[in-house]
Amino acid sequence: MKRVRIAVVGAGVAGFSSAVCIAEALPSCSVTLVADRFSPDTTSDGAAGIVLAAEFPGTSLSHLKNIYQCWCNTELWVRLHTAKEPRQSLMKHACFSPSWQIFKEVPANKKPFWSEFVIGFRIMTDGELRRFPHHKFGHAFTTVRCDCSSYLPWLQNRLVEKRKVNDLQELFNNFDLIVNCSGLGSKSLVGDTHVYPVRGQVLKVEAPWLNHFIRDGDGGTYIYPGIRSVTLGGTRQEGDWRLHVDRAEAEGILERCSRLEPSLRKAKVLGEWVGLRPSRKNPRVEKEVVQVQGHRVPVVHNYGHGGSGVTLAWGTALDVMELVREHLGEKLLQARLLPPS
Ligand SMILES: Cc1cc2nc3c(=O)[nH]c(=O)nc-3n(C[C@H](O)[C@H](O)[C@H](O)COP(=O)(O)OP(=O)(O)OC[C@H]3O[C@@H](n4cnc5c(N)ncnc54)[C@H](O)[C@@H]3O)c2cc1C
Repeated sequence: MKRVRIAVVGAGVAGFSSAVCIAEALPSCSVTLVADRFSPDTTSDGAAGIVLAAEFPGTSLSHLKNIYQCWCNTELWVRLHTAKEPRQSLMKHACFSPSWQIFKEVPANKKPFWSEFVIGFRIMTDGELRRFPHHKFGHAFTTVRCDCSSYLPWLQNRLVEKRKVNDLQELFNNFDLIVNCSGLGSKSLVGDTHVYPVRGQVLKVEAPWLNHFIRDGDGGTYIYPGIRSVTLGGTRQEGDWRLHVDRAEAEGILERCSRLEPSLRKAKVLGEWVGLRPSRKNPRVEKEVVQVQGHRVPVVHNYGHGGSGVTLAWGTALDVMELVREHLGEKLLQARLLPPS
């Protein structure tokens, strides 16, 4: 008898994290990843990749803490280490990022719920704040920055299939379970009217002298030093599907970032990029049973992470793996009793 066959739709950070988690935790399953766009053409590739917690109204604080803890236990580091990669290749995917998040007004809650999961959280000193004369308050901490343009190809050493899925029914003959990580594609793929784009435009500049990430508290302006370049942002335009670079916005971003960090005025612009954050009021991480031609086909959804997809990737992938396990309970047991095919 065959192993349990699982299709994961989507090759962004949500799809790859889910596929790797399932393949590693449930070895009696075979996992195939199906998508029409792979790295470097997914939204995930352009993400600044900063692991920074956000709140979602439909998710309890305790569950959010569990999800964020996956990163703050430096899951990526553990995985890279167990893959026995040399240090140079490990540094290609992720680095620690000393960070300043600054506020024009002192926030009501000075110590956010995620403060215990980042490294060395503290309130910025007056000396540090003197660099930002228009800001009154700030958080200082160290978090992880993940470079998806090399991280995704690293994850891609799993079985993959390049094609567009027009309807989940296409997969039902060949797979026992489908994991849907199609991001904004879920709007047409599963008819979800609650998923919408939040457009983000960024510049990549050469400024190797910068080490600290600086983020204006509302997330409208940010400077994220990465491994190969520094990402300057940004924009957050709800419902805007434009994928081309807007000249005026690019100039505005450069001006705002240079006001926060004047040395950026001499930085060389390496590139510009626009991405659509696959947004939803709350990410959809749940199971469903779909009826197709008289058969009950299990589906697990994992999409709608908005501007936090890199941050949520490992935590939600572990949730997906548990939902897959629940869905397949009986089948998994049968598969385990059989010799591997
Ligand atoms: C400017 C910007 C900066 C960001 N910075 C950060 C950050 O610092 N930290 C952070 O945590 N997040 C950040 N994000 C958010 C992050 O990029 C997203 O949340 C994340 O990329 C979503 O990942 P995903 O895998 O769900 O979707 P995607 O990366 O969009 O992948 C979707 C996949 O599904 C496939 N697909 C869709 N429909 C179909 C179909 N019908 N058939 C076959 N395949 C299909 C696509 O081809 C693709 O492979 C940022 C986003 C932007 C735009």
